[in-house]
Amino acid sequence: MGKVLGFLLPFLTKRPQYDVEKVQGNNKFFMKRRALLGPGYLWGLVPALMLLIPSVLFIIGPEIYLIHNHHAAGVAVICVSKILILIVLAAMWRLMSQDPGIVPRRKMIHPEEDEDCNLEAPRQMIVNDVPVEVKYCKTCNIWKSPRVEHCRICDNCVEGYSHHSFLLGTCIGKRTYGNFFCFVCFTIFVSWMRFALSFVYLSLYTQAEMESQNLSRAEAFQWILQNSAASVAFVVIVLCGIGGVYSSYLFGKHVYLMWTNQSLHELKRGVWKNVEQKPFTDHGFKSISRTLFVSKPESKLHEDYCEDPEMEAESGPEPSPVSKVEVCGSSSEDGFIEII
Ligand SMILES: [Zn+2]
Ligand SMILES: [Zn+2]
Repeated sequence: MGKVLGFLLPFLTKRPQYDVEKVQGNNKFFMKRRALLGPGYLWGLVPALMLLIPSVLFIIGPEIYLIHNHHAAGVAVICVSKILILIVLAAMWRLMSQDPGIVPRRKMIHPEEDEDCNLEAPRQMIVNDVPVEVKYCKTCNIWKSPRVEHCRICDNCVEGYSHHSFLLGTCIGKRTYGNFFCFVCFTIFVSWMRFALSFVYLSLYTQAEMESQNLSRAEAFQWILQNSAASVAFVVIVLCGIGGVYSSYLFGKHVYLMWTNQSLHELKRGVWKNVEQKPFTDHGFKSISRTLFVSKPESKLHEDYCEDPEMEAESGPEPSPVSKVEVCGSSSEDGFIEII
């Protein structure tokens, strides 16, 4: 129960504080360093308004109509609708305000101090018995292990990097991918539910005007658009239709990515295209459940985080030098931006 309330009311849950020393990119602290937003956080107003404007219009149109004509159904729809919008906004806030999996920067390595330390040469590390090429990030001073990518907007390396979301203003990484998928699923549900209810409401209203004014369907619809407050339902249909189509597209795309065990970044860059053997072999439901239901790792940016030496290989290995012939994969490109 506490976890459910914590999810629905994220402002009330007390999170650990982020360490100011460990966050050196463009991300911003809020709420006494308990929230970490991306540099473009103000763009979050766009999806928030896209969700809230139809909510208000939905009250003026279908909800009032339902309460007047079908009281019990109206109250039920209002309750479900308000809980769903709360879940979507909570998921969105959690997504925007959490560390996506930023790898703390390290102190500069001076190549002249160590002759073997050639940061330009490709190196490899063994992941699941497969040798994988790793590149050095000169900004964060770390070797980018597979699925760690530097986001040029946030100016940080992110573990399990998927993409930088323009409208959420932050990266989607290993720690926030589950929230991202949850946000997409609920947005689909809310959008199509409102779309359907507004469509039914507008059809019933048009039918009533046809009968009362003896108009054709087209004339009654035109009359509603010009003279009736019920026309707001048309705006809801358009906005929720756009939101529903786009979020359904995102759902399909990310189910495919999880099914094939690759990130959006890896798909766009073709990271595993010409690779003989992928280090990540899980596919199908196993890959989806591992991505969504395995508990997310602790943030490395929290004040009380202590790095386990055995886990160090996850974020900052010292891979061995290797000749070009032996390496596979490619992770030399910086991250990229998606709309959401
Ligand atoms: Zn980096
Ligand atoms: Zn980013």
